[in-house]
Amino acid sequence: MCDNDAASMEHVPPVCLFPEIKDTKGINFRKNLIKVPSCDIHNSKKSDDDEFLLFSLTGLITNNTVGKFHFYSKVNRAIRRKNKDFINKQVLRNHKYGIVKINNEEKLISIGHPDAERLAKCFEHIAHGLYYHKFGKRFIGEIFMINGFIDYKDSNQQMLKKFMKRRFELETVLNEDFQGDNPSVFYYQFHKPDEHGLIAVKMVFYGTAEVYVCFKAKEIEMPHNLTTELIGGGVKTIMTLGDEEFPFND
Ligand SMILES: [Zn+2]
Repeated sequence: MCDNDAASMEHVPPVCLFPEIKDTKGINFRKNLIKVPSCDIHNSKKSDDDEFLLFSLTGLITNNTVGKFHFYSKVNRAIRRKNKDFINKQVLRNHKYGIVKINNEEKLISIGHPDAERLAKCFEHIAHGLYYHKFGKRFIGEIFMINGFIDYKDSNQQMLKKFMKRRFELETVLNEDFQGDNPSVFYYQFHKPDEHGLIAVKMVFYGTAEVYVCFKAKEIEMPHNLTTELIGGGVKTIMTLGDEEFPFND
């Protein structure tokens, strides 16, 4: 993340996302966790963010069994210890309860607005760590990301999310296998650099929560891009993948 000397090792993603053996009756979800060097400032100021990320991710109703299990064990214990405001003001703003039917069973759920900016900061941190782990050097440049499990109010952002999801799906077979020794908690896949040298990585938490990240190294100059300008300028623009159409400003 920075130029400071590394003083400790930090887990990528945060270790709290991985269930502990004491909760899982012996199943190990902490096999070969990734660690990268970190300065004291970046490692210590992160613990609040780690908990925020844990609450945000484990609470998703689409999660696989491991995510749900982690939520109903460790996270529920932590929530009970927490001030209620932590959920209402930090994790899910405008929080209210609702009922949904899942497999014909009525479930009580929380509904609200996630803190997308803070989530992005957490994922950027993880992306930096994965980059270091993969390439053995610090990433210097810009990181772009789209959060696949958030519904965006902005229709272009929402369309971009669908476009990215599909593009990653189509390109998956062209790249190396998914990485991560505890895939039911977390796995990821780096994509080969594109024609401009941009590198993309897909991160997946608890089987379904996807985050798409793009690394643009400092030295890369992006050519003038008509599509981006048209979309930015409010002109109706259709991007295509194969025969699928993704209309922007529609
Ligand atoms: Zn640092």
